[in-house]
Amino acid sequence: MRTVARVAADTTQRDYKILDPPGLTALLASLATRVRLGGVPSDWRVREVGDGNLNLVFLVDGPAGSVCVKQALPYVRAAGPSWPMTLERAFFENAYYSTVAPHVGARIPEIFHYDPALYCTVMECLSGHIILRQGLIAGRRYPHVARDLGEFVARACFWTSSFALSCEAKMEAERLFAANHALTRISVDLIFGDPYRLSERNRHTSPQLDSLAAEMRADSALKVAVARMGMKFMTQSEALLHGDLHSGSVMVTPEDSRVIDPEFALYGPIGFDLGAFFGNLLLSWFAQPGHATSQDDRIAQQEWLWQQAVEFWNTFHVTFLGLWSASCEGDAYPKGLWSTAQDFVALQAARNAYLEGTFADMLGFAACKMIRRILGFAHVQDFESIPDPARRAHCETGALTLARHVLTHPRQFPSLNALRDALTRRGE
Ligand code: ADP
Ligand code: MG
Repeated sequence: MRTVARVAADTTQRDYKILDPPGLTALLASLATRVRLGGVPSDWRVREVGDGNLNLVFLVDGPAGSVCVKQALPYVRAAGPSWPMTLERAFFENAYYSTVAPHVGARIPEIFHYDPALYCTVMECLSGHIILRQGLIAGRRYPHVARDLGEFVARACFWTSSFALSCEAKMEAERLFAANHALTRISVDLIFGDPYRLSERNRHTSPQLDSLAAEMRADSALKVAVARMGMKFMTQSEALLHGDLHSGSVMVTPEDSRVIDPEFALYGPIGFDLGAFFGNLLLSWFAQPGHATSQDDRIAQQEWLWQQAVEFWNTFHVTFLGLWSASCEGDAYPKGLWSTAQDFVALQAARNAYLEGTFADMLGFAACKMIRRILGFAHVQDFESIPDPARRAHCETGALTLARHVLTHPRQFPSLNALRDALTRRGE
């Protein structure tokens, strides 16, 4: 694995300033990247397009091409300066990109430059792409995205895990990302804590969901199940995770899929990244009736979404097993231990059991993610864009009920078929 340079110790935030179009133009003019834009700085057009929760994102167009520049702000953009946030998240985003780049090919944007003083990244502009979540809300289909993402998670996780790394290399990588305290704190609070207690940051469709939200705050079995997933998240350091792999972190065209926004990167359980993407496909599934019109009941879109969830998991499974069988140079399940036919039978059984555990983790984390997006701080456009609150609440209730059942009855979901049956019942 490539070693990622640490933030230079002498980099101080004294040199930091929030970029505005003139400041950004001056920065780009000083970089070799300027050749991608072409012309002279006065030809360049700067647009701020950040629609996310945390950062500034600019697109800059020149006569020869475009670039995207993302800068961390010293606070949470969605909350304003009253919620301060460390700038270092830009460093971890860049560290994630450079760590996985050799393994995931063109599934991430090309990174041209990282500025450690300004906490900003200059990267490939994905001009023909849109955010997957927007496409799914509009009822569009992307034939490659599930396969692309299944492969992405398998490759990014396998090559950063103990299956591929020596114990020393893995410990170094863990040490680097273990400093991403601030964003991990957000996940710990917003996913595993707030939705199950009264918190000023929470909101939900009210009054329609008031009683269900109160019931879930009082559900001891649910809280224990979520706490168990939280414990896994904090302790099961299997692989480098993107940390926020929902459908708003994927940009698509009908032919291409790119993963963006890995600022929450951390070492953790592989099921966490799988569950983020899988859970957001399920959220989209539950939101579809809210977008139905007299011309399109969205039933075919729901069926397509389910097929994508299946393809995502199956692709991950096949790719991860393939990598494990073909190459195991790391210290986990070390290759020198297996020689007899009996060994290989036992090893194969161990691999299957490992992936069964990963499947269970995926469903558990998917359920946690679904609940936090309906009862917690940050919601998803899939539901938010349903204007009628009663209709929205009906869709959200289906998702909450399924997620709660998956968390409290995990043994009822050993397979995708079992989940499919439950999904069909909840969606009615
Ligand atoms: P945040 O961390 O603040 O959520 P994101 O990385 O998700 O920021 O980016 C916010 C938005 O900026 C994305 O939803 C997308 O519309 C746009 N964007 C981000 N990166 C690119 C890129 N490389 N090319 C084009 N647009 C991008
Ligand atoms: Mg982000």
